[in-house]
Amino acid sequence: MARNIGSRYTTHQILGRGSAGTVWLGEGPEGPVAVKLLREDLASDQELVGRFVQERTALLGLDHPRVVKVRDLVVDGNDLALVMDLVRGTDLRTRLDRERRLAPEAAVAITADVADALAAAHAAGVVHRDVKPENILLDMEGPLGPGGAHPALLTDFGVAKLIDTPGRTKATRIIGTPDYLAPEIVEGLPPRAAVDIYALATVLYELLAGFTPFGGGHPGAVLRRHVTETVVPLPGIPEELWQLIVQCLAKAPASRLRASELAARLKDVLPLLKGIPPLDVDEPDSDPAPASAQASEQYEEDAYATGSGTGEPGPRRAAVPLVPGASADSNRDTHTSMRVPAPDELSGGPLGTARAPRSAGTPRPGSARHKASVVRKRRITLAVAAVVVAGALGAGGYLVASGDGDAPPQDSKQSSQP
Ligand code: ADP
Ligand code: MG
Repeated sequence: MARNIGSRYTTHQILGRGSAGTVWLGEGPEGPVAVKLLREDLASDQELVGRFVQERTALLGLDHPRVVKVRDLVVDGNDLALVMDLVRGTDLRTRLDRERRLAPEAAVAITADVADALAAAHAAGVVHRDVKPENILLDMEGPLGPGGAHPALLTDFGVAKLIDTPGRTKATRIIGTPDYLAPEIVEGLPPRAAVDIYALATVLYELLAGFTPFGGGHPGAVLRRHVTETVVPLPGIPEELWQLIVQCLAKAPASRLRASELAARLKDVLPLLKGIPPLDVDEPDSDPAPASAQASEQYEEDAYATGSGTGEPGPRRAAVPLVPGASADSNRDTHTSMRVPAPDELSGGPLGTARAPRSAGTPRPGSARHKASVVRKRRITLAVAAVVVAGALGAGGYLVASGDGDAPPQDSKQSSQP
């Protein structure tokens, strides 16, 4: 049934659901639009509504062919809606779920489009903060580009920042999706433009590999890996492309490329990738009986981290549940809200559990004895770490107590890369 949003728009049917609300196919004075109705709890937050209106100019001002254009912001009674250009197609997560891995040429063409979108946003002083496949839309009506890829458009600008209001998020909490979070955010620094580059490099890796470089298991484990682990080369990846990924996944934000440089370098690499099929990468979660110490160690970690306690091998790369006991979030579209781990929890202190870098599907040499002792040790450290992080996640009282009165983690005015 049609529903009015403000005086100018009507909504007809649901196009998709996200973490911030529901997106509807709508009709406006200039034709079809997409209308994102923010979740009720967000829309009823007066402070958030205020910020929403404040951000109006920045959101409406972003005008670039690779950015899903926000046309209007509507505050109408209890409704808070973002009116956007309608993109006829699908989101990148849906394509990735269907195809598992993309051919390098298509993956790079899509990533270059998003890098172009980020370059425009960063030049306007806007940091996206939630770059992930769910927020990349593929325009099926647009012309086919390199590798047969449809044009990609970045959506959801400013939404992470809006939700990250002082009342909602404290300095000790993190907003973002764990798999794509830059290490400096985990360490509590304000999110600058370089966090988007890190997230986009993570997306590119995922398009090529079928899984993210540091994802899997408990959110605390994912956050720790961002800070302590090094990404390991994907078999068969052209060196030029690999170097770009490594540079943009650098732990130090200043070492990453800027968006415009990344876009240019990706376009330079494109001709080298013509005709290369999707990489032949071992699927970590399709390995039914882990033969290597490394794989069984990972399964142990997942069993402990998710609190299943069964010891049964679990899926290696599922998106992680954010609430203890909750089922895994297969869409990775939930925002994390958790305590920032203390430095000793992150890097080799008493609870340090930094792993040697993993190479997808490569068995790690080691005897059966070595394997057993590693697993035993990890059971202890991971159980302790899981308690620490689960405590942080579960004890709402702690979060409130620790965060009260703190300043929000980001500047009120996002700046482009320093
Ligand atoms: P959230 O911010 O709540 O996570 P998204 O913006 O990611 O929501 O939108 C959720 C889904 O709605 C997307 O995955 C996509 O399928 C659909 N969608 C979002 N924006 C548009 C749009 N402008 N045009 C068409 N479909 C859209
Ligand atoms: Mg989204």
